[in-house]
Order: sequence, then C-alpha cells, then structure tokens
Amino acid sequence: MTSDVDTRLRGPAAYELAKTALQEMETASVWPTPLNFEIWLHSLSNPESGLAIELRRILANGPLTEDESERLAAEYLPRARLSDEIRDAGAQLSRELSSVAGAIADAQRNQASYGETLAEADEKLTSGGDIQKTIASLAAATRRVSVENAALEQRLSDSTREVGKLREHLEQVRREAMTDALTKLANRKAFDDELERQCEVAERDNKPLALAVLDIDHFKRFNDTWGHQTGDQVIRYVASVLSRLALPPRVAARYGGEEFALIFPAETAQAVEAALDHTRREIASRSLKRRSTNEDLGAVTISIGLAQWQPGEKPVGLIERADEALYASKRNGRNRMTVAQDRAKAA
Ligand code: GH3
Ligand code: MG
Ligand code: MG
Repeated sequence: MTSDVDTRLRGPAAYELAKTALQEMETASVWPTPLNFEIWLHSLSNPESGLAIELRRILANGPLTEDESERLAAEYLPRARLSDEIRDAGAQLSRELSSVAGAIADAQRNQASYGETLAEADEKLTSGGDIQKTIASLAAATRRVSVENAALEQRLSDSTREVGKLREHLEQVRREAMTDALTKLANRKAFDDELERQCEVAERDNKPLALAVLDIDHFKRFNDTWGHQTGDQVIRYVASVLSRLALPPRVAARYGGEEFALIFPAETAQAVEAALDHTRREIASRSLKRRSTNEDLGAVTISIGLAQWQPGEKPVGLIERADEALYASKRNGRNRMTVAQDRAKAA
C-alpha cells in the first residue's frame, strides 16, 4: 500500500535527512532545486515507496534530468503540485475580484456625479438659467457616463470570461486530484469518498452493495525480474481489464501500489461473483509480451477478496472483511477469489 510521506519532519533527524539528501544530490550530479530536494526527502524517508524505487532506477542509468524530476513529481507528489495550482488559481481569482470591485466603485462614483449634474441642471432650468448651456453640459455628462458604462460592461464581460476559465481549470484540477496518474482509474481518495457515499446510499435505500479488493500475485518477483517500468505496464494492463468490468455505476480504483478495489453499487456479492472470477481467469490466461523486445513475460495472476456490505456496516468494516477474504485467497495458493463471510456468521 502506498503511503503519504510527511516531509515536514521536525527535530534533529530532519537535519540529518536534509544533509544526506544534499550529499546524495551532489554525488548524483543533480542540482539541489526545491523540487529535487522534495523528491530526495520523500525518497529517503520512505525507501520502499514507488518514488524511491523509480528514482533509484533512473539514477542507475545516469543523472536525473529536469524533465524526469518534473515527471516524478507529477506522478508521485501530486498533492504538492495541486496545492500550487489551487493557490495560483486562488490568487488569480482574487485579482479578478478586486479589479471588478474597483470598476464597480468607479462606476458608483460616476453615477453619483451624474446624479449631481442632473440635479444642478434641474435647478438651472427651473430658475430660468441659460438653457442652451445647461443642455450642452447635460449632453456632455451623458456621453461621459455612457462611455464609462461601456467600459464597465467590457470589464465585467472580460472578468466573466476569466472566471469561467478559472472554473474550468479548477474542475480539471479536481478531476486530476481524484484520478490515479498511472492507470487513470479512481485513486485512493476518490475510492474512499465513493465507498462512504455508497454505504450511505445502501443504508438509506435499503439496497445491497458489494466490494472487491484485488492484488497482483508475486508482483515483487515480477518487478525484480523485469524492472519497475515493465511492472508499471502490468499495473496499467490489469487496470484496463478491470475498467472494462467496472462500467458505471461500478467504480474501479487503484487502492495502492498493485492493489485495486471495485465498488458494485446496488449489487449483491453473489450477483458479481461470476463476472469477477471470469475477469480473474481472463487475466491469468493471457501471456504477456514486452513490446520492445518481444520477450515472453509469462502470465500475471490476481487474488480477489469479495464482500457484501451488511446493514449498519461502516466502510472500514467492509474493507476489512474484503481484505481478510483477499488474504485467504493468498494463503490458499493465490490466483483465486474468496467471498467474505457475514460478520455474525464469522464470529
Ligand atoms: P503477494 O502475492 O503476496 O501479493 O506478493 P507481492 O510480491 O505482490 O506482494 P508485496 O506487497 O510484497 O509486493 C508488492 C510490490 O509491488 C512491492 C513493490 O515493489 C511493487 N510496487 C508497488 N507499487 C508499485 C508501482 O507503482 N509500480 C511498480 N512497478 N511496482 C510497484
Ligand atoms: Mg500488495
Ligand atoms: Mg501483490
């Protein structure tokens, strides 16, 4: 399971970590940019993370380029990227708003002064002043206000467009924040949100709900034999097979490194069992080939734990039972599916 590493370390250990990071960057002939620093700190504080493994793989083949730093950060440090994006969007929105507020304040002042001009004109006309002069000054003031109104209108329509663009951008950022970069499946956060929502819906509508957790068998061995990058391709491949099974309203998520989860709203475990097992057999029956070298990679297999939600059960309880079933599949030889028992019966 992937975990978020806290780089905001406190205490003496933090200096040691920073020193080591600096030394390693120097040894690897990499500039100590803030981004590289972040990558190294993550990698040092969690040497088994996907980021650390990928970093070691890249460094084994030469120094880290700036493009590669960017790619690593985009894939493994999405939260940092996202908060930058959100901060930028927030700053831009705030600039737009203060500029619109300024334009509106100007317009209010102009309207007030136009009102005064009208009042003066009224007085002059009723007290028998120079009609020609009064009308000329009224016409000039009206022209001024109309030019100012046109400018304000333009300003507001520019702002509306800008805010619309920002909204689109934020929507895209939001989508990315819910999507796993490698597989394009829902990520862990999206999965957690969706499962919580579906448990509530099941409770409210008195509907069934099933959850499957899946894990690639002996994946470490596969990685060690064929390399992390080929491993990534296999994760992608399994994800693509799962996404065919998980048409809406079903949801397929990458739950961790080589672990997946499938949510089946309004379906019983019994109803999805056959389809899931078919998917398992389909994956096991395919012999994978490495495209670049045509090497035969053999087949990958997956183990599955399937559980049906029980009334009153919290998401964490459902996940726990599905996980236990998954581990039973592993214990009993892998490449199989186990259906979790109901809690009362299990006790
Ligand atoms: P088991 O059958 O018991 O699941 O064995 P396993 O080797 O699959 O299990 P384990 O959880 O020990 O190892 C999972 C490995 O998956 C560890 C890690 O190297 C690898 N891994 C985790 N995330 C990624 C990833 O994003 N890409 C690649 N290529 N490998 C990953
Ligand atoms: Mg695993
Ligand atoms: Mg595994």
